[in-house]
Amino acid sequence: MKILVLGGTREARELCPRLAGAGHDVTASLAGATRAPAAYRVPTRVGGFGGPAGLADWLDSHRIDCLVDATHPFAKQMPHHAAAAAYGAGIARLRLIRPGWTPRPHWRQFETLDAACAELTPADRVLATTGHGELDPLFRHTDPRFWLRTIEDPGDLPLHVTSIRGRPPFTPAEEQALMQAHGITHLLTKNSGGDGAKLDAADRLGVTVLMIRRPAPPPGPHAATTDAALAWVEALAAHGRQKNQPG
Ligand code: NAP
Repeated sequence: MKILVLGGTREARELCPRLAGAGHDVTASLAGATRAPAAYRVPTRVGGFGGPAGLADWLDSHRIDCLVDATHPFAKQMPHHAAAAAYGAGIARLRLIRPGWTPRPHWRQFETLDAACAELTPADRVLATTGHGELDPLFRHTDPRFWLRTIEDPGDLPLHVTSIRGRPPFTPAEEQALMQAHGITHLLTKNSGGDGAKLDAADRLGVTVLMIRRPAPPPGPHAATTDAALAWVEALAAHGRQKNQPG
């Protein structure tokens, strides 16, 4: 099968070589948000497609049989573009999305970063692990002090925001040391799921967790793990082989 995997996550990086190893012809696609992305070990294209119509054209012209959308749980547009384009191109699509963290009773949960930031006061010292893509809410709320941890250089920051560069994973001990070093009182983060070292460190130190809820994904099949995604592709391939057998 010819498969396009929309990447930007650890799950996509794991899935691509596994699909290729199973004999599929796999292309990975990246938005281009990270300057030095980790290798996907399959042919990789970089940059947007020009909306759902552009993606549908690409799927068609490259004769793609199925699409695995393994973009980040907080990717706003691409999951919807992928759903519309796969429908337009008449191919199957799977959303590979890791499970979110189960809310802990003491978390304060918000729909948006702006709503979470509005709760902060001048005494608050906030570790923000919300990425470099959505900085305006942090810039607008000038009362608290923020320590913004990003993989990429976030560029020029206002005085109340300090940059910390780092590429996960981090151990709970590293997270705890970071929070203690800066006297952190609040952890501002998105419910991305995966390893919860920072949440455990926050709990241990009594740091308040401000959690941003996930956006709703488009309807359709989804898998929580690379194993489940691989099984979905294999079932689709088997179904295709059955259909093509002479009757
Ligand atoms: P987004 O709002 O869903 O995407 C914005 C635009 O970027 C899309 O409309 C599309 O452009 C292009 N794009 C996104 N993912 C792409 C991919 N895999 N291949 C080619 N083009 C892609 O997503 P975002 O929040 O800006 O995130 C951008 C990328 O970073 C995503 O791939 C996501 O998985 C990853 N990421 C996001 C977060 C986060 O918190 N949002 C965190 C970690 C990683 P066109 O419409 O022109 O096709």
